[in-house]
Amino acid sequence: MSTLILDGKVVRAAGLPELKARIEALMKPPTLAIIQVGDREDSTSYIKAKTAFGEKLGVKIKHIKLAEKISEQELIAKISECNQDETIKGIIVQLPLPIALDQDAIIEAISPKKDVDGLTSFNVKRWLEGREDAVIPGTTRGVKELLEYYKIDLFGKHVVVVGRSMLVGKPIAAYCLNENASVTICHSKTADLASETKRADVLIVAAGKPGLIGANHVREGTVVVDVGINTVKGEKLEDEIPSKKLVGDVDFEAVKDIASAISPVPGGVGPMTVLAIFENLADLCVKE
Ligand code: NAD
Repeated sequence: MSTLILDGKVVRAAGLPELKARIEALMKPPTLAIIQVGDREDSTSYIKAKTAFGEKLGVKIKHIKLAEKISEQELIAKISECNQDETIKGIIVQLPLPIALDQDAIIEAISPKKDVDGLTSFNVKRWLEGREDAVIPGTTRGVKELLEYYKIDLFGKHVVVVGRSMLVGKPIAAYCLNENASVTICHSKTADLASETKRADVLIVAAGKPGLIGANHVREGTVVVDVGINTVKGEKLEDEIPSKKLVGDVDFEAVKDIASAISPVPGGVGPMTVLAIFENLADLCVKE
């Protein structure tokens, strides 16, 4: 039996017309503020991807670039300005922030009504409870919609999530639990990762470790969702400068013939996350 590829580009393209229509139906084109502190290369490229996709949808993007050394008070003041600006319907503080800043305090400064990433405690409580009105973090909503598109039902399944961050692992685990899966969460201190992951009907990996999951971690027929995005050295180009390449946490080639379905990197969860952020924005505009 051939392995089903969970293709985020196809699913995103299928969801685009409906989302575009929802945005166009609003009284005014909404603005999404993206606040970037410092100039991390990975953050800049994620913001570029969101900006390009937002513009396709008719969303205005206000990219607010702030100095690496900004104080917590100054950053919170900037967020408050965005909270009060009626043209701004969604706010993203691009993570990670410089370590000198208290990430929790900064996220809490975002109005829950504009929290497109679903990370304020107001929204965390709602997605933990599985409430319909929760704003679900983009990656989790992306995984949800990818699985739904391919009719992969989690009811009664054993889901193993690798990774326990507040941004990715925990909201994905909460979502699976709310879908009536039995959930195991693994992390960097898990004693025997392979023995846990081999028990999975659905394995969702978000560890940020290229090649973490190989053939010995997966049993025949498992659905594998690779959330990881890692930049590694690619092949050397003619001029001998190594190029960069994106890979996930799963060794795709080693696992693809064992899994019943697998999401590639790039082109799996990544495109879905961008779609989900703008779906969250459209939901917030309606709730307003
Ligand atoms: P993080 O560093 O905050 O968390 C990583 C988690 O993985 C931790 O809970 C840690 O315990 C666990 N982990 C690390 N090494 C492990 C190991 N050897 N065995 C088992 N568990 C291990 O990272 P994050 O923000 O949660 O992101 C995780 C990955 O997902 C990264 O590669 C990130 O780039 C990617 N990501 C992808 C998307 C997307 O849209 N596809 C969105 C956000 C993050």
